[in-house]
Amino acid sequence: MPERIDLKNLTLGQLTDFCLGLGLPAARARQIFATLYRPGTSGFATMRTIKREVRALLAAHACISSLEPVQVEQSSDGTVKYAFRLHDGPLIESVLIPQNGRHTLCISSQAGCAMGCRFCLTATMGLQRNLTPAEIVNQVLAVQGHMIQTGVVRATPRQLIDNLVFMGMGEPLANYDNLLTSLHILMDEHGLGFSERRVTVSTCGLVPRIAALGRDIRVNLAVSLHAADDATRNHLMPVNRIYGLDALLAACRQYPLAHKRIIFFAYLLIKGVNDTESDARRLAEKLQGIPCRINLLAYNESEESPYQCAEGQTIKAFQDILHQAGYRTLLRNSRGADIAAACGQLATSGPAAESACNPTPGMLRRQDQTHGRP
Ligand code: SF4
Repeated sequence: MPERIDLKNLTLGQLTDFCLGLGLPAARARQIFATLYRPGTSGFATMRTIKREVRALLAAHACISSLEPVQVEQSSDGTVKYAFRLHDGPLIESVLIPQNGRHTLCISSQAGCAMGCRFCLTATMGLQRNLTPAEIVNQVLAVQGHMIQTGVVRATPRQLIDNLVFMGMGEPLANYDNLLTSLHILMDEHGLGFSERRVTVSTCGLVPRIAALGRDIRVNLAVSLHAADDATRNHLMPVNRIYGLDALLAACRQYPLAHKRIIFFAYLLIKGVNDTESDARRLAEKLQGIPCRINLLAYNESEESPYQCAEGQTIKAFQDILHQAGYRTLLRNSRGADIAAACGQLATSGPAAESACNPTPGMLRRQDQTHGRP
């Protein structure tokens, strides 16, 4: 028997084709699509707005997946880290960051990552596999469900999460087709209804895919830069040996930005590697003409990493130079450091990946400083 299709892997257009193939009208597909992404929908039996016979027909040809967190940890600063185990074993994480009454959700696009950035714990895992569109979208639905359960109240479920950032585990643009499908579902007014201003995709610099993203959909772009010259970036981020800094910044210059929108550049300040005043001046020169904000990230030191965080006064001097050159900068506070959920670097250890249930709190190690959150 062929594997049944997961309805959450389909955009509205694809679901419409699927329903037409089953003899259902297009209007029914819209209704099914909207019901799929309502809180509380966990299977065909819970889709009570859909006629019983239609549900039975769908259940014979399709399935509906979901994710349940296997671990939820809350930081003293309110950041919440969710760990999800995928059906075939890998663990992934999402991080919810509350700030000033708003919630930003950072989600994963791959289990592990193949890009090999030297400062990133996720890189030590290698790539386990790409996430499906359903697995990307299900992180958002699971976190929404948990927020509702824990008493977070908003006028509508759509307002629970203000911003969505693809800055968790993995390089989103390396899983391009699934990323794009998930974006269409997340941004469809009949789906989860995120507007283009509320969604940010972060990349380490896959230049051809930056151009494709700009052609295919409208979302905010964040770029993990971390160096202002090719030699340093080649050392920190192997992707730079294929797509050098000038090609990357040319792609950023061509990225279509909506009115008053900017590109977010993340720059991790690492002692003795990329934190000098001449690095700051070079960065200011390189980014000339790009509407942007530079998010400066203090490096989170770890036993596994050979790098150290830049000194406080060095960071201040670096930021001052960028300010004087007219750039908007933000020195990111590390959120959720006490639960190892500070910004973007995630690694699941071997034993964790083998443990099918009952994960322990130490199971996931996260330094999270890969893709600076906007
Ligand atoms: S920083 Fe991002 S792209 Fe680089 S290895 Fe880590 S997760 Fe992958």
